[in-house]
Amino acid sequence: MTQRWAILLFALVMAALPFIPGMPPFWIVLLDNIGLAALVAMGLVILTGVGGLTSFGQAAFCGFGGYVTAILTTSYGLSPWLTLPLSLIASGLAAVILGLMTVRLSGHYLPLGTIAWGLSLYYLFSKLEFLGRNDGISSIPPLSIGSAEFVGPFKIYFVIWFAVALATLLTVNLLDSRTGRAIRALRRGHIAAEAFGVQTARAKLLVFIYAAVLAGLSGWLYAHFQRAVNPTPFGLTASIEYLFIAVVGGAGYVWGAVLGAGIVIVLKEILQSYLPMIFHGQAQLETIVFGLLLVALLQVAPTGLWPRIAALFPMSDRWRKPQPASPLVPREKDKGTGPLLQVQDARKQFGGVVAVNNVSFEVPRQEVVALIGPNGAGKSTTFNLITGILLANSGQFFLDGKNVTGTPPQRVAHLGVARTFQHVKLVPDMTVLENVAIGAHLRGHSGAITSMLRLDRADEAKLLAEAAKQIERVGLGDQMHQLAGNLSLGQQRIVEIARALCIDPILLLLDEPAAGLRHMEKQKLADLLRQLRAEGMSVLLVEHDMGFVMDLADRIVVLDFGTKIAEGTPAEVRNNPDVIKAYLGAAS
Ligand code: ADP
Ligand code: MG
Repeated sequence: MTQRWAILLFALVMAALPFIPGMPPFWIVLLDNIGLAALVAMGLVILTGVGGLTSFGQAAFCGFGGYVTAILTTSYGLSPWLTLPLSLIASGLAAVILGLMTVRLSGHYLPLGTIAWGLSLYYLFSKLEFLGRNDGISSIPPLSIGSAEFVGPFKIYFVIWFAVALATLLTVNLLDSRTGRAIRALRRGHIAAEAFGVQTARAKLLVFIYAAVLAGLSGWLYAHFQRAVNPTPFGLTASIEYLFIAVVGGAGYVWGAVLGAGIVIVLKEILQSYLPMIFHGQAQLETIVFGLLLVALLQVAPTGLWPRIAALFPMSDRWRKPQPASPLVPREKDKGTGPLLQVQDARKQFGGVVAVNNVSFEVPRQEVVALIGPNGAGKSTTFNLITGILLANSGQFFLDGKNVTGTPPQRVAHLGVARTFQHVKLVPDMTVLENVAIGAHLRGHSGAITSMLRLDRADEAKLLAEAAKQIERVGLGDQMHQLAGNLSLGQQRIVEIARALCIDPILLLLDEPAAGLRHMEKQKLADLLRQLRAEGMSVLLVEHDMGFVMDLADRIVVLDFGTKIAEGTPAEVRNNPDVIKAYLGAAS
């Protein structure tokens, strides 16, 4: 069953539920609340579970949605349908402002930042005169179509669950797209995503806005369901509860939001109804029991309950073959002369450590150059300087004659420099195909909105077809639909090469690509690199396997303690006394 059929089936089941004979009205209220919470939690799934940005302030965005419609419908008499876009825009704008301030924070500072605005917005809601202070705003009109009013939990049920089904569909679409892959790559850190052209700051802001708009929608629905708003449901406690919901359900999964909302809200309801009977009204006891139950649940299922359930219903989307598509337009053939890459006097210091000490070398067109040297010699740092991940303290870099010193990594990728990483940087819970398609990011154009509306299919088919082509080329066609994390480390390195090839590079930087490969696999890799060279590509290679390097490289550059100690053909370097000393010294 594909994801979209699952959503349709789910929507039909939800639409039928209220008509079950004898369904207690109170259960409908509970389901309404579950739907409202699921919307907010779905935003958190994208933001926190998928994008890796923890927010403790999500309920505040519900507040924006709720208060905007409350004021505009009560004080200005606007129709709720008119305030719907305004509520969503207000939440989105708040997310832009707060997002710009917060998404640049990293590590623990980001969640702390969201707590800060979660708290301050709550106080703002409860102190402002025109928001009714702690009493809030009441007498909000119900939703209506013509003379039919959605009054009461039964009628609004259908509006709420329609919104949930729609949000699920849009979110599933978003994640299954070029933009979605960029968002999913964020969790593995910026470096790999940026090396393939992803504007990570923009992607983060996008998920911030998306999550806030879903929360705003929930707030808007809440206001017209309760017909009143006050600050309490938009405070820090509510925010933490939404985070709980996402985590319990499965923070990495869209359906986890719905499941988590169901579990947490039903659990809370049961505890609130029965515990006081057992413990004779001891206040707050249910909060403690609730907390303990959640901790126990997370012990049993640390990634949430959804993946456990999903394992019982295998979804076939993962195995979907890429559609045949017209191929992507290749980069214009290289007509330049002179060396492709020139590194001049590059220097990089980390505090007292001189990782790269005024190193100069060139990569001629259509040659394989190997960069060798003992561990810690500065090889990977040199790669990071060339690709713009690190800024050199001094020195210059020229690509195809153009000065690219200080160029950001996304731009370097755009110019045709692709790389692999010594420490593999794939997204383990994405398939090989999806990981490799990130390499083609710059060759696609579809944005978030087109993806959500599924107008990106032609563009998407081209990207996936290119990714599939490169996977076949490196000999991993059989593994295309495996999760990348299930492959051996050696194979993951080869997947990184396929991803790099998707850029359609002019220069390929490979950091220890043969590590962990068996003899036959190394031979195949060497053949592939020879073929790429014959097709016009230049390769800069870091590798410890000397047999591999000596066989393949046209030139070798030797680094030791950040300094270039030798350079030449394999034969020249092999007999160089300084090189022999550096290697023997390193080995002894
Ligand atoms: P190689 O790839 O040749 O093994 P590296 O370029 O990774 O070497 O490292 C060169 C030196 O720079 C080492 O001494 C390493 O500890 C140091 N180094 C590398 N990256 C960093 C960093 N981000 N911060 C501090 N020191 C670093
Ligand atoms: Mg290294």
